[in-house]
Amino acid sequence: MSGKQAIGFIGLGMMGGPMAMRLVDAGFPLTVFDVRAEAMQPFVDKGAVAADSPKAVADAVEDVMVCLPIPDVVRQVALAEDGLIAGGKIKRYVDLSTTGAVTARAVAAGLSEKGIACLDCPVSGGVSGAEAGTLSLMQSGDKSAAAALKPAFDVIGENPFYLGDAPGLGQTMKVANNYLSATANIACAEALVMGVKAGIDPEVMLDVINASSGRSDVSEIRYPTYVLPRDFTKGFKQRLLHKDVKLCMEEAAAQGVPMWIGNTVRQFLTHAVSQGTGDEVSVSLIKHIEQWAGVEVRGKTAKKQG
Ligand code: NAD
Repeated sequence: MSGKQAIGFIGLGMMGGPMAMRLVDAGFPLTVFDVRAEAMQPFVDKGAVAADSPKAVADAVEDVMVCLPIPDVVRQVALAEDGLIAGGKIKRYVDLSTTGAVTARAVAAGLSEKGIACLDCPVSGGVSGAEAGTLSLMQSGDKSAAAALKPAFDVIGENPFYLGDAPGLGQTMKVANNYLSATANIACAEALVMGVKAGIDPEVMLDVINASSGRSDVSEIRYPTYVLPRDFTKGFKQRLLHKDVKLCMEEAAAQGVPMWIGNTVRQFLTHAVSQGTGDEVSVSLIKHIEQWAGVEVRGKTAKKQG
């Protein structure tokens, strides 16, 4: 026995997979569940137990983390008949997904009636941050759950921020961040396509931007690492970014805050998803603008994401 607390982990996709893998590699006994059996196999190979429903996970362990794609799936996994709410052992629930404040509040209301402590903890840092254990963690809700799970959070992230005890504040923080990141991504694509069409080398453009006031995480890391070498194999899906900006616009509306640029970014993403690219990674949004402009932004790998 490792002496580490047993953890249930539900949702072993692009983000949840590497996070759960770090936990198993660090010696946390895991019980896992995913609707895709093949996603559970690598964990079973390392000694984890595969459950057959969220309820079965919540019958097996006190601490359950979920990393699921969309709000409806989180509600179902938490609150449905065979959901976590029906489990006999669960004491703490952590949502690592980006599901918005409305869902976080609804799930917390449902689970807390059963005495389950809830923490929302959306993450930022992408697949490479999940693999490296360097995600930033935006927590809100039950502070004792944050403390009880600190050893596990230390394995998956390095920047825990606690936003307050109201459920949903971590989610509001996360959708605000992703709204900014989506805006920078699309604006960087437009600027690069314009520059390339005018005749500037895209590597030089990124060097100038990164030495100047237009720089962002997108220009410093994502475009040199993925766009210039045309590596669109891993990362954050466009439909998930669309979901996050939509959640941000909903929160802005709920708070009575106008977000004009956000509406444009949302429309861009709605268009991209309607054109069938929702399952492609978010940095490949540039392909839409390239197609309209008739040029491609291509270069050597300028930098590897570390
Ligand atoms: P993903 O689609 O790769 O993974 C989702 C996983 O959930 C899949 O393995 C899927 O099979 C599983 N799943 C779906 N329905 C299920 C159900 N009912 N029960 C159990 N498992 C189910 O998505 P992802 O990229 O890992 O993102 C997960 C969450 O993390 C999203 O909310 C996303 O917005 C957020 N996020 C993603 C990134 C990123 O870079 N990919 C970064 C930060 C946050």
